[in-house]
Amino acid sequence: MAILGIETSCDETACGIINLDGKVLGNVVASQINTHAPYGGIIPELASRAHLINIYKVYKQTLQESKISSKEIKAIAVTYGPGLAGSLLVGINFAKGLSMSLDVPLIGVNHLEGHIMAALIRDNKLILDLDNSFFPSLCLLISGGHTELILMKSYDKFSLIGQTRDDAVGEAYDKVSRLLGLGYPGGPIIEKMAKNFSNKNRYVLPRAWLNDSYEFSFSGLKTATMNLTNKELFSNNLNKVETQKTISDISYAFQESVFDVLFSKTTNAATEFSCKNILISGGVAANGFLRENFLSKSSFKVIFPEKQFCTDNGIMIASRGLIDYLKNKKLDENLEVTPQLNIL
Ligand code: AMP
Ligand code: MG
Repeated sequence: MAILGIETSCDETACGIINLDGKVLGNVVASQINTHAPYGGIIPELASRAHLINIYKVYKQTLQESKISSKEIKAIAVTYGPGLAGSLLVGINFAKGLSMSLDVPLIGVNHLEGHIMAALIRDNKLILDLDNSFFPSLCLLISGGHTELILMKSYDKFSLIGQTRDDAVGEAYDKVSRLLGLGYPGGPIIEKMAKNFSNKNRYVLPRAWLNDSYEFSFSGLKTATMNLTNKELFSNNLNKVETQKTISDISYAFQESVFDVLFSKTTNAATEFSCKNILISGGVAANGFLRENFLSKSSFKVIFPEKQFCTDNGIMIASRGLIDYLKNKKLDENLEVTPQLNIL
């Protein structure tokens, strides 16, 4: 007996299957990075088309990997939003058709709640027996489309504490990478460049504190990085070695600014809401610099998902679906695309 999770909110076509004890049985992700890389960002129309081509193959492959037959699927969990409308529609329609043919319930999952569940998967198993010694926990969600602080009061009770007013952290990484001429997706490339810094203190980029609220803003940092790049990289006649050093030092300063803001606001919120833990999820949570610094500097217990579960995947959606399934929650038979955040 198992739960199938389907995720198509952005540029990954993903399915995951877990059993009712939370054990991961199969996890397949078809990435569209090569489709979007030439444009330096995601093209929604291309994303929906690629989902349409990939979804059935990904589902079949996940079943094979799980070594179960479709008859053992007891419920289908699917991301209903937030995300790209065209991309969500592919996953939801596939899930609806499959749930009708298998005659099993359909569970709508909020993508952000899915990301949070990813931090509760250890050794390929969703931890299902957390109690009041774990909650409340504070979740920092950092991805290509989101930067949010969310209070998790139990497995299925969430409230939004603060979010970005403009760019998401991952988006800022991607845009800075593009202006430095480094490619897409930007996060892993900036991280790699920053590791080769020549001088940590060469540049200092601004931090947007926004009156110490729990709101974030990264557009100013992006502009400041662009101005610095124009001044230091493009107006000087640098040789190859100097160019690499300058790119690395700018990347380092960018990461430091991002970390300082994330760390400070997350710590303040965790303190104010008496949180027992800090969970950090989403694609940017794969970043080694952020991971090491949060783990070494925080006085809270900080929990990151395993790197494979940081970016979009079907297991996190199946996990959130399993919680609803086990609670026998009233199932939603009239799922609609909800590109905007409407649950938190
Ligand atoms: P998601 O939106 O959760 O699918 O995550 C994708 C985003 O995570 C993109 O904006 C990536 O640039 C970013 N990302 C992926 N790996 C890293 C990394 N190592 N450091 C920073 N950002 C990353
Ligand atoms: Mg995501």
